[in-house]
Parts: sequence; structure tokens; C-alpha cells
Amino acid sequence: MRRHPHSVRTSKAAATGLCGFGDLSSSDKVSILAILQVLGDLLSVGTDRRIHYMISKGGSEALLRTLVDTARTPAPDYDILLPLLRLLAKVGLRDKKFGQKALDLEALDVTLILARKNLSDSHHLLHCLWALRVFASSVTTAAMLGINGAMELLLKVITPYTRRRTRTVRAATEVLALLLKSKSNSRRAVNRGYVASLLRLHQDWHSHDMDDTYVTIRRGLLLCLKHIATLRSGREAFSAAQGLETLFSMAQSYLDHESAEPAISAMFQILRQCYPRSPLPLNTARSAYTFLDTADTTPEPLHALTEEDFEDDVDEEVDKDSESDHSKEEDDDLETDVDKLSARPGLDRPEEELVQYEAMCPELSCSFEELESQLGYDLNSEDTHYTANHRHIPTVASSGQCCFNKDQSSWGQERTNLASTSLLSRVKKGRFSGHLSSKRRPSMNVSPSMQTNGAGTDPSGDNASGTQTFVEEDAWNREAISCPRISDFFPNSTKSGETAGVMEKLLHTHHKPIPFHDPRAYTAKAQRTKSAVGFGKMAFPDLWGHCPPSSAQPMLERKRGIQRIKILEDVRRLTQPNDIINRVVFSLDEPWPLQDITSNHLRFFSKFESGNLRKAIQVREFEYDLLINADVNSSEHQQWFYFKVSGMRAAVPYRFNIINCEKFNSQFNYGMQPTLYSVKEALLGRACWIRTGDEICYYKNHYCEHTAAAGEAGAKRYYTLTFSVTFPHSEDDCYLAYHYPYTYTALMTHLDILGKSIDPQQVYFRKDVLCRTLGGNPCPLVTITAMPESNSPDQLEQFRHRPYQVITARVHPGESNASWVVKGTLEFLVSEDPVAKLLRENFIFKIIPMLNPDGVIHGNHRCSLRGEDLNRQWLSPHAHLQPTIYHTKGLLYYLTSIGRRPMVFCDFHGHSQRKNVFLYGCSVKETLWQAGCTVGASGLLEDVSYRTLPKILDKLAPAFTMSSCSFSVEKSRASTARVVVWREMGVSRSYTMETSYCGCTQGPYQGLQFGTSELQEMGAMFCLGLLILELKSVSCSHQLLARAAMLLNGEEDALDQHLQRCGGSSGGGSSSSSELDDEPPCLEEIDYSADSSSEQEASLSELDRQIQECAFHRDEEEEEEEATGQTRAVPLSGGP
Ligand SMILES: [Zn+2]
Repeated sequence: MRRHPHSVRTSKAAATGLCGFGDLSSSDKVSILAILQVLGDLLSVGTDRRIHYMISKGGSEALLRTLVDTARTPAPDYDILLPLLRLLAKVGLRDKKFGQKALDLEALDVTLILARKNLSDSHHLLHCLWALRVFASSVTTAAMLGINGAMELLLKVITPYTRRRTRTVRAATEVLALLLKSKSNSRRAVNRGYVASLLRLHQDWHSHDMDDTYVTIRRGLLLCLKHIATLRSGREAFSAAQGLETLFSMAQSYLDHESAEPAISAMFQILRQCYPRSPLPLNTARSAYTFLDTADTTPEPLHALTEEDFEDDVDEEVDKDSESDHSKEEDDDLETDVDKLSARPGLDRPEEELVQYEAMCPELSCSFEELESQLGYDLNSEDTHYTANHRHIPTVASSGQCCFNKDQSSWGQERTNLASTSLLSRVKKGRFSGHLSSKRRPSMNVSPSMQTNGAGTDPSGDNASGTQTFVEEDAWNREAISCPRISDFFPNSTKSGETAGVMEKLLHTHHKPIPFHDPRAYTAKAQRTKSAVGFGKMAFPDLWGHCPPSSAQPMLERKRGIQRIKILEDVRRLTQPNDIINRVVFSLDEPWPLQDITSNHLRFFSKFESGNLRKAIQVREFEYDLLINADVNSSEHQQWFYFKVSGMRAAVPYRFNIINCEKFNSQFNYGMQPTLYSVKEALLGRACWIRTGDEICYYKNHYCEHTAAAGEAGAKRYYTLTFSVTFPHSEDDCYLAYHYPYTYTALMTHLDILGKSIDPQQVYFRKDVLCRTLGGNPCPLVTITAMPESNSPDQLEQFRHRPYQVITARVHPGESNASWVVKGTLEFLVSEDPVAKLLRENFIFKIIPMLNPDGVIHGNHRCSLRGEDLNRQWLSPHAHLQPTIYHTKGLLYYLTSIGRRPMVFCDFHGHSQRKNVFLYGCSVKETLWQAGCTVGASGLLEDVSYRTLPKILDKLAPAFTMSSCSFSVEKSRASTARVVVWREMGVSRSYTMETSYCGCTQGPYQGLQFGTSELQEMGAMFCLGLLILELKSVSCSHQLLARAAMLLNGEEDALDQHLQRCGGSSGGGSSSSSELDDEPPCLEEIDYSADSSSEQEASLSELDRQIQECAFHRDEEEEEEEATGQTRAVPLSGGP
């Protein structure tokens, strides 16, 4: 019955009938009413299709003309006008050009006149208001209505609190709110002092409406204020009328009123919008660190201000951040040019240049004797003796064993433990039960005080006392211990004696061996790390090392209403400033010392590798605003943070606000916590970096770009990350970071220790320098494979013909998770694990673990020293300006040119917006398909092998999920490693591996945040994936298959099963079946922008409802009605 063809015909006939009617001066009232009745009936059932059909046939114009003609008669006939106005409202809502049509046909004036005539007849008035409301939904007509005095009329209708005529009042507020969307109306409203009257009206309704009966009226009034507040003059008028204070106190006492939610939400939008915008409290947004690149001749692109920047109509300010931010963040415009996708461009450099990379692949040419002699190449280059533990499997599974003694790590012991730690036993399914049991409990190694905020912390009598006494005895140089000078460790330093002595003592008594870490080796390496700043100090965590907690920590449950609570606290700075301190306590920009050791505030420090706090302002006694340094030679990219804080009291929650974040959203809104390292906890041998903090929230704040044009249209806006930390000990030295730090020095130390831990008879491990960075730091290139079993020609032949696998990581310095993953890869590959052995015997791994050492050293989030995103430079890298990219590409060119194209190329990254681990690959077909571009795609042949590895990882790796993978090529990514290696080198399995900063929503780690163990495990699992990929390939040798089979038989049959399952599903299976729902449902809607986009949508059906509801109730004046009125809905479609 919904869409009978004949009913469409009828509506057409009816519309046509009305069209003709306009011309008839003396019409038959009965027939008009009949037509209106038929139309009303027809349009009130079924879908909007009928209404749109009618609009397309000129229905709107016909109705409007009828309105004008009828209303202009000396005694307008309301029997016709009322149903007509109802119909107009209904049709007008669906006609995008309705406003303009009404304007052209002079229906605006007519309706305004009608409304004025009926000020005392609220039923008639209500009908006029409905019509005005649909007229006003176009900004142009809204402006016209304003000029013609509509606002004054409406303000006569909107009375102070009453229980009568509330429908009319409500409709009037709604029309007024729409009118005020026009800037000229808003400006007029400001000039005529309506802001104060609207505030008073709202206050009156708010205070009388105790049981939230008239929430819609209150919301309507607030929306009026909100629209006015998009103008600067509107905000000023609002402030002058004490609006901020008024709304602040209302909002504060109303937070929990769920029934008043629409009004509260509007209140917060206004509060956020009217919080006076101000530039960041920095002299310049440019990084505090500058790198003068002498080789750089290209002029710095100046941000020249044009006349437009000074356009004086600052009132026309549009808050369009919601769209612009998103588009900036994810530019997903797909490449649809098949030629661009498929054609392979030529070399970006002279072919002769490729010869230089031969030296980086000595495994291809040198003899076995040469290999052996190379083995000890740097064994004695540094005097330190490493006691590296030969346990390579990441430590998640072995709870409580994250640190162990030197004696335990002997080779023999290691081999006996092998079975229990083998990676094979820990594939996705195998780990499941084991991990689930530990899932809900907090990590055991962490002291209780770290887990419970505010609970009794720092009991002086706990077993910390030994350490504490020790540390406190040396209170005069505690600073020197928690952030030691590099030079103090070297005998040629004059003041070295005492600190070095204390440090030695600490190391001797408190340091537990951490696999592949050594503080003394770290110090030696730190001395060689070059920075533009000349960091003289080391962060204790990097020096001392990190013991992960015994199990992953659960994600933080978001506290309900947290964003609003935080916003109110921010507004309170203005409304109740009595406890505001606003004292700068740390700044990279001020040469004088700001930190008074005796005064009552936290002390901050960040001048160490990867540290990047720029400024700290004590806002209240226990609250600090923090600003992060921009990437070197840029004024943006603030997201990563790492700094030291001391001078705290235990059991007090401190609120930290990082106020110059840039991304439009963050996993901090979805369960992620920052990381904390307590020096005291570390000295006690407890877990080191742990997730911490509560009351975490990430939202847009009132700060804007620091330029002459600040506060004007288009000025960049900033976001606040806020979190509260309750420190475990008083007078501790703690470090806070965005994610587990991993410095360049840590990498260099790690590689040295790795190199010395291997059995040179078995493992070929080579560390070359790919190139030097702009900052003069060597960028390491690691080669791992198995030594040939003998120097027989066969063995050497096999050795040299092993396929290559190439892995790169950390091109983005803020993505320290990528470093932990690659750490896992490296440790696994040199390990005794049988899988690792097989991998070494069958492949040559080329790994560049840190593509952007300079960025990591300087605490950048995204860029190189030149302020460039290196992962957008792959198309034509420059040898001097982007050396690491240039030479990585060169090496790949070289391998390709000698017929040794890598089987897999993967660049490890971190992802700030999503959970789990997933791959981005490249596929022409999938790109065209995703873009809806089927032309040319059908005939295209494409090898689908790029899907196999992610499918395998999905089955194996606990953190990995296929459902988030994507294989589309975006235009914006044309110059990334993944796309360039795929297109230019022809590596079909070229990937970006993205690891969430947060954690997992699936698999054994569901609901958990990543710890370093899980990240390292992912690195190992990636290698296992490579092995299985080989086993499944047609080229897989019988020997490898046989050995793998033996290995699998010896193990739990877990992997075997996985292999079968992988094999079974490799052909078909839709990968994109499950959609990208990696966000857990958030408890509250997070309102980032000050604008609510759903407003319009809601009003559509809402107005329909209102019209239906009271269409046949003429008696409004007489009754005291219910605002909700749901009981009285009368279907319009009575009909004959
Ligand atoms: Zn990245």
C-alpha cells in the first residue's frame, strides 16, 4: 500500500489542480479544501518519495502561490490557511530551495503579516511560525526575514516562563535560532541588545522549569545564543552580560540531569565557544630548537600574509574545523589513474650510483673465510663486557621473570627452556587461554600504589626504605642520579668522581640485568649521539632500562561526563580565579632558572634525548598546563611528549594538561593511558614504564595559532590532552611519556649487545652504516642470516641465494611503538628459537630499524631536522637532504637491479587513531574498486599474493587483525615507502605495518593496552608470518618443508593447524567483510567541535511530529499542556 502507482498519479493530479487554482480569483472553497485534504493524506503516509515528486512538479510554488492569494484577501479564510500552512511546513522541510521560492513569490511578507495579525491567537500563530521556520532554513531568506522585523516579532512571542502557549513559545525560539544562523541577523541581535534579553529569558525558564518539562524551549534559547556567539561581537556581548558565569553555574549544578540533556549539551557548546580564544602562551610556535642546514639552499617557504589575512570583517568567522581537520588528517582520495598505479617509473638516479650498495651486501660476494674473519669485527671495539641474556622471546608469557640474573642466562639453560618459550607455542590460539586468565588483574610487578590512585601511597616503612634511604642520603645529587650527565661517567671529566661513584653503587646494588640492555654501554653510546641541542644529560629510564609489567594493563574505562567536567574546570579559571597561580615553572625559551627548589611546585626537565617539553605553567596548586616543543625547524606536529617531573607529593592527584596537541582526535579518548616511569620504583626492581593516569580526556581547547591573525577565521586550533597522575612516592623523580620511549642511543646500544650475544658460528649478524643523517648520526643497517654450515660450494651457493626480506621502521619519531616492534624482530631473528633458525637459513634480512634517528633524538613527532615528513619523500629523495630515504631506496634499487628484489618489504609505524596491529598494502584492483571505478579494472590481471601475509598474521599474531587492513593506494600516499617500493621496485608485498599506540579490541589481548612485551612479540610474530608465507609458496624447497614439518611435529600442533587453516582460506574469503569498527562504543558522545551537526536532522522529524500532534487541537490557549505531548499525537491521515 505504500507506493501504489495510482497514488503518485493522484498526487500529481492534485498538485496540478492547485497550480491551476492560483489563477482563479473566485474559487470553490470546498474543492480547495478537498485538494488540500487529499494532498495532506497522500503526503503523510509512505516515504518522502511522494513529497519529492510533488516538489519536482512545482508543488512548492503552487502551495506558496495559494498562500499568498488567500492571505491577501481582505478577510483571509483560516479554514484554508491552516491546512495550507501545515502542508507548506511539511513540503518546505524537504525542499532545499523552499526559502528562495518563498522569497520570490513574496510569501515571506505575507506570512509575517499574518503572524503579526495573530499575535493573540496562538493556534493561528503557531501555524505561521511553522511556515516561517521552513522559510528560515535558508540563510538568505533568514536574512530577509530579519530585515523585515521577524526577530522583533518573535521576541514578542517568546515570553518569560509561562505554562500557557508553550507550543507557540517553543516554535518561536526555534524560528529565532534559525534566523540567528544568519550573520547579519546575529549582528543585528548584538546591536539591539538581544544577547542580554535572551540570557535573561533563558535564566527565567531554567530556574522555573524544575522538572525539565520545557527543555526544548530552554534549548531553543540556548541555540539562539550559540549562533550569536559565532561572532566575535556576540561573544563579547555574551561575556559583558556575564553569560559565561551564568551558564557555568547552571552547567555545574546540572551535569547529572539526564532529562535536560539537550539543553546541557547546548550550554557546553556555548561555554566552549565563548571561552575567550587566546594564542598559545608561547612567544612563537616555532620549535625551540633550530637546525641550520648548511647544505640546504632551498629557501624556507615563508608564510606570507596576504591582504585577505587582514580582512577586517572578522565577524564572518566560521568555525569550520570539524571538516577541515578531518580532511587534513585523512586524505583518502584514491588514485584512480590506472597508468599511475601500474606503470613502473625509471630510476631516480644514475644507474652507476647503485654500485655503492654492493658494499652493504657483502654476503653476496665474500667467501666463507672472509665471513669468519668479519665475525669479530667489533667485538673489542668497546671495553664493556656484556652479559646479554640469550632469551629472545618477548617476555609476556613468563610472568614475573622479566628480569633475571646473569647466571640464569647461560646457553645451556637457555636451550632447555626453549620448548616453553618457543614462538610456535604462542600463536594466536595457543596463547589465548594463558593470557585470558591474567587479563582482568592488574600487573603484579607493579607496586600497589601505582595502581590505585589516591590510596595510601608511599608508606615510609615499605621495602622501599632501603633504596629510599639511599637516595635520600644523597639528596644533594639526586638530580644527578635521576637525570645523570653523560660526561660524569668518563674519567676525563673533572667533576665525575662523586656522581659516577653513586651511579656505580646504584648499578651494583640495584640494577637487575635487563635482556639486551646495559647502562654502562648506554652511557658510552650516548656520548656519541649528536644533537643540535647538545644534550648533556640522559634520561634515567633510557639509561637504567625498562622492565615491563608481568602482564598487559587493561584499557582505562572512560569516566562518564569527563569531558564536561574538565571543560567546567577550565571555565572556572575565568569565573573563579581566586586559586589560579599561572606561574611559569619551566621553559626552554627562558635562559634564567625558573625552578625554585624550595617552592611548592613540581619541577620539570626535558633536555635529554627524545625529551620535548617546552614549557610548564602551574595553573593551580596541583594542576599544570604543559606545552610540547614543535618538531625542529617547524611550528607543528606536537603530539609526542617525554619529560621528567620531580618534587611531587604522593597520594595527591596532579592534573596535567598538554594544551598544544594537534590531532583532531586521540586514542586517549578510547582507553589509552600515557606511560610513567618512577625512578624509585625502578630502583626497587619493580616494573618500570607502566600505563598510568585517569580522568583522561582529549578535546578541542580555546587556544589558537600564534600569529598576527590569531583568533580570526581559519586560525589553527589546538587540543588539550588532560590526565591526572597520582605518583607512587613523594619526592620521587618520574618520567611521563606519550608512549614507551625508545631512543636512538637505546637502539645503538641494543645493536651492539645483540651483535655480541650471538653465536658467530651460527648467526651471521652484521651492522653497517647505511649513511649519516643530517645531524651526523650513523643510520644503522642490520643484516641477519645464518652462517653457511660449511664452506662447500653448495653451502655457499645456498647462502648467497637466500631471498631478501627488508624491514624498515621509525621513520616517524613519535612512533616509538614501531621501535619496540622492530626490537622484537631483531631479538627473535638472532635467537635460538627453531623458527628463527629456519628463517635465518632461508632468508637474508636487511633491517633499517630507525629511518629517522635525528627526529628521535630531538623529540620530534613526525619530521626530520628539516621539518619534513620523511615518509613523503620517497618519490625523489635527495642524497643530502633526506639521506636515509635516499640510501634505503638506493639499496632496494640495487637488490632489484641484481635480480634480488625482496620478497617482502615492510615499514613499521605506529597508529594514533586505531587499535590493534594491521597492514596497509597496495593493490590496483582494490584501489579502483574502492574508488567505485570499475572501468578498466575488470580486464586487469593482478596477483593477489599481497593478501597472504596479512591473512597469515591474522591467524598467528595475537595483536594482529585482518579486518583493519587496507590495500588501496591513496594519492596522498604516493610518496610513501609502501607505495614507492611497490610501484618502483615492483615488490608486490610492500607494506606499512601499523601498530596502535593503545591496544587491542580483538584476540587474546582484547581490552588490553599494549606493553612493550606485546609489541616485541608482534615483531617476532611478523617473522613467523614470513616463514609461513614461504612454506605456502610454490617455490618453497622440499628441504624447508621437511624441516618445518619436523619442527611442527615436535611442537604443539597449534601451528600445524594454523597452517592448514591458512592454506584452506588462502584462495577466497572476503577480507573486508567485517567493517572497521575498531573504536569501542564510547560512553558519551564526544563533542569536539562547538557545533552540533545533527541538529538539523533531528528537527526534520521533530517538526513533523509537532505539526501532526496539534494539527487538530485548536484549544491551546485554554489548556495547560505538556511539552512532550506524546499522548496526543493524532495521525493526519484520517481520510475518508
Ligand atoms: Zn607513521
